[in-house]
Amino acid sequence: MNLKNLEKIIEKEPAFRKKQIQKLIYQDLITSWDEATVLSLKLREDLKKETSLDINAQFFESKDVKKALITLSDGLQIEAVLMRHEDRNTVCVSSQVGCALGCKFCATGKLGLKRNLTAEEILEQVLVFERSEPINNIVFMGMGEPFLNYDNVLQAIKILNNENAFNIGARHISISTVGIIEGIEKLSNENLQVNLAISIHAPNNILRSRIMPISKKYSLENILKAVDKYIEKTNRKVMFEYTLINDVNDSINEARELAKIMRHPLYLVNLIKYNNTKEFKAPSNEKIENFKNYLIKGGIHVTERFRFGGDIHAACGQLCLKK
Ligand code: SAH
Ligand code: SF4
Repeated sequence: MNLKNLEKIIEKEPAFRKKQIQKLIYQDLITSWDEATVLSLKLREDLKKETSLDINAQFFESKDVKKALITLSDGLQIEAVLMRHEDRNTVCVSSQVGCALGCKFCATGKLGLKRNLTAEEILEQVLVFERSEPINNIVFMGMGEPFLNYDNVLQAIKILNNENAFNIGARHISISTVGIIEGIEKLSNENLQVNLAISIHAPNNILRSRIMPISKKYSLENILKAVDKYIEKTNRKVMFEYTLINDVNDSINEARELAKIMRHPLYLVNLIKYNNTKEFKAPSNEKIENFKNYLIKGGIHVTERFRFGGDIHAACGQLCLKK
């Protein structure tokens, strides 16, 4: 899809035209401008010449998961994943091509950052699935760090929200960040009901810096301070993602340390079993249970992420593994 020239083409059109076109693309789900019969023939022809609604995607499917490998107009590739739950469909979208942050356990980190995605390129990842089935939830948990592409992510969220477009409520949208403090602060001032998730993965700065180089810039103490301010402002729950990696961060000592900093009525810990990216190993289920039970006994709210998509390299941290 390439909407780069859209603004230029409708420049001289009345203001409502933009809304009308947005509705055609994101709600009526047209796949060709020929279907846009509410527009004049001349406008349709111009749009056809200068923009494209085609999405260049290759699909990979396993039981409850469908992955789309999308080739962008400049040839770069991104991945988005549809997860089918019993009662809802969730799309996991990428916010950047690659990622600059280089977390040791993540395949995307190995790519480095190629560039930010535009808002349209973020929406294209939802559209590619919505054209064949309804989508209820969006998570910014694909490739890239959403808060390092803040403006485009927010612009995309506004269109996801828009009742003339996707009409997905903010409460059904989640953003996952490594803890970019400026982003957390900005989000708290948006007056948006989106869900915030923080990738924590370690209970202290020393261990965290070892697996997440960005920790040297943003300490746990400062991240938690920013999160508490966010909670004060929004009164919303915050989820902390903790990927359990064998013999790295999965001992009872780490559970004890984690319990100490996670004791807050609006904090929720989400445990994720490490998905293979070659570097590390996943803990045994027994170790995961022990870690989880220790937290529960300590009064921490804990959930465990249902794991799927591994067989088509669509699980957390595996995007663009095969390249
Ligand atoms: N860059 C953002 C969002 C994308 S990653 C962030 O890091 O939060 C979405 C989640 O998957 C993050 O919590 C990330 O740490 C986690 N993840 C990355 N690699 C993983 C792996 N190999 N196994 C399990 N989870 C992983
Ligand atoms: Fe980037 Fe998130 Fe992967 Fe870290 S885990 S390298 S921040 S995408």
